[in-house]
Amino acid sequence: MTQDVADRTQVDGVDVVGSLSPSRAGDFMTCPLLYRFRTIDKLPEPYSPDAVRGTVVHKVLEDLFDLPAPDRTPGRAGDLLAPAWEAIVEQEPEIAEMFGAEGPEIGAWLASCRESLDRYFALEDPTRLEPAERELYVETLLDTKLLLRGFIDRVDVAPTGEIRVVDYKTGKAPREAFEAKALFQMKFYALVLWRTRGVVPAMLQLIYLGSGELLRYCPDERDLLATERKVEAIWKAISRAHESGDWRPRRSALCGWCAHQSLCPEFGGTPPPLPVLQVEPVAG
Ligand code: SF4
Repeated sequence: MTQDVADRTQVDGVDVVGSLSPSRAGDFMTCPLLYRFRTIDKLPEPYSPDAVRGTVVHKVLEDLFDLPAPDRTPGRAGDLLAPAWEAIVEQEPEIAEMFGAEGPEIGAWLASCRESLDRYFALEDPTRLEPAERELYVETLLDTKLLLRGFIDRVDVAPTGEIRVVDYKTGKAPREAFEAKALFQMKFYALVLWRTRGVVPAMLQLIYLGSGELLRYCPDERDLLATERKVEAIWKAISRAHESGDWRPRRSALCGWCAHQSLCPEFGGTPPPLPVLQVEPVAG
């Protein structure tokens, strides 16, 4: 059970100053106000066909490795699509409402999920892989008592012990100028694995199913120490914003995907008052 925090609190019985996941750190780097809306105000966001496609395709790729290796074919992956979608709708029935009348047609949307899966098979041969872990929850407590945590899509471990961290993205690969941002999440996971297993992962691999591309990176200890410093710096900036209440909007091309434009001063909106029990800088 996790509690968000101001100075000190407990996560699973351990004193921490706060907790951070790559997605929440990414929110803050994108826009402090977006971070506030998501983490402190906890404002709901509408379901989006793109985001739900990501959820369904991740589920299929997770379930695919439950099948015996020879059965991990595009056809069998396609067969897993409908059950994966149904399982997600069963958990959150409102998701189904995004289709129909004004949204996309579900048949076309499912076909787009299938295309993402087909691109996966063009990039990897799952009959030759036996992942060590799927959807792995990881966490580590830094010396500063900041808890880092997150879920890793897949961890492969070679017979010789090398670790490969794999993440699936249903979008397109970023242009070169934005690769560092994409790799931050992977280095964050690599840092957590290094701290918990004592081994620097040999490879970080992003699989972009929107464009059918791989982004690979081999980190070293220096990279991961730099990532640790960066994470600490982000945490300090979050704590400062928390103390001052100054959660500045940062306008960028990503505003086009922001669900909170109507509350954002950059778009003529006014943020709601901060929640009264504002005791935490973070969640994640
Ligand atoms: S619209 Fe842009 S600037 Fe405003 S909160 Fe969202 S991401 Fe930040």
